[in-house]
Amino acid sequence: MEHAPSPDRYDRMRYRRCGASGLRLPEISLGLWHNFGGGDDFETMRRMVLAAFDRGVTHFDLANNYGPPPGSAEENFGRILATDLRAHRDELVVSTKAGYGMWPGPYGDHGSRKYLLASLDQSLRRLGLEYVDVFYHHRPDPDTPLEESMGAVSDAVRRGKALYAAVSNYDAAGVRRAAAALRANGTPMILHQVRYNLLDRRAETEGWLGAAAESGAGTIVFSPLAQGVLTDRYLKGVPAGSRASRNAFLRADSLTPALLARVARLDAFARERGQTLAAMSLAWILRRPETTSVIVGASRPEQLLASLAALDGPAFADDELARLDALLSAPDSPAP
Ligand code: NDP
Repeated sequence: MEHAPSPDRYDRMRYRRCGASGLRLPEISLGLWHNFGGGDDFETMRRMVLAAFDRGVTHFDLANNYGPPPGSAEENFGRILATDLRAHRDELVVSTKAGYGMWPGPYGDHGSRKYLLASLDQSLRRLGLEYVDVFYHHRPDPDTPLEESMGAVSDAVRRGKALYAAVSNYDAAGVRRAAAALRANGTPMILHQVRYNLLDRRAETEGWLGAAAESGAGTIVFSPLAQGVLTDRYLKGVPAGSRASRNAFLRADSLTPALLARVARLDAFARERGQTLAAMSLAWILRRPETTSVIVGASRPEQLLASLAALDGPAFADDELARLDALLSAPDSPAP
């Protein structure tokens, strides 16, 4: 049945421009890497997507391989689009990517033109869409000329199968080269997608934020909550059903006493500011003007709503940022 969206859905969300482009994204986007696969509960996925849309989250981040099995997140999202959001396609930004292994043989992975264009066609079929809004090369491929990969992304745009071109997981030099290649093709790069959070500041130290900004692109951030570590999820152990309990992308043995002590200190800092650690972690990323949006994951709608509370929190005073820097650079010590 068509969803009747909340009439005030645009009142509280803020939107930021992707670099120098005309496209604006919500400060908080929803990612479908986990919890939208073939074995997950469809009704929960549907409630998360509709709760997001009702709060002005217009951008949904996918990739060909999200599941498991690969492709199933696109299929599930396509089902929600078709049943609930059909009338609202023009209010949505749907992103997908190609760059990781999707099908057997030499043409189902990496960065060849053969792979990228076939993968996008498959994504469109699974999503039930004529075009995606943003098509990413998901990771650099050192064995394919960058011009070939970027040429394929540009051609996807020229053919109307994607509206905008983007890359993910490139280094600073790669971002500059990719942006130049895309610009030369007349299809500017609008986003670079990277991991950035309170526990991983390579986007700053490796120059990723600066390289994207100089290239006219925005930075969009994945795993802003460090897959749940930057929340209260693991402060009292590893709950059943949590990402760490599955021990695949987030390993339970990575949650060392030293790390958890640091997270507990961050949690106390957030409480002092009157917000949750999740909300503070997102607001901290959004303090940077280079950041267009943070892509959060969620396993239930309540988590998404907790993330959206980041929009209502106080701005960071300079001395708070300095205290956070000190806390983050202090040597780890286990909690007493
Ligand atoms: P997050 O860092 O936001 O982690 C999400 C997980 O944190 C949730 O699944 C949940 O874990 C936990 N969580 C979220 N909110 C709360 C809360 N309020 N309280 C307690 N726990 C909470 O992001 P992801 O790692 O999921 O990445 C987000 C998106 O970024 C992906 O969906 C994908 O779209 C994109 N991405 C892109 C990559 C790339 O290479 N370009 C790589 C990785 C991600 P639990 O399931 O345990 O409940």
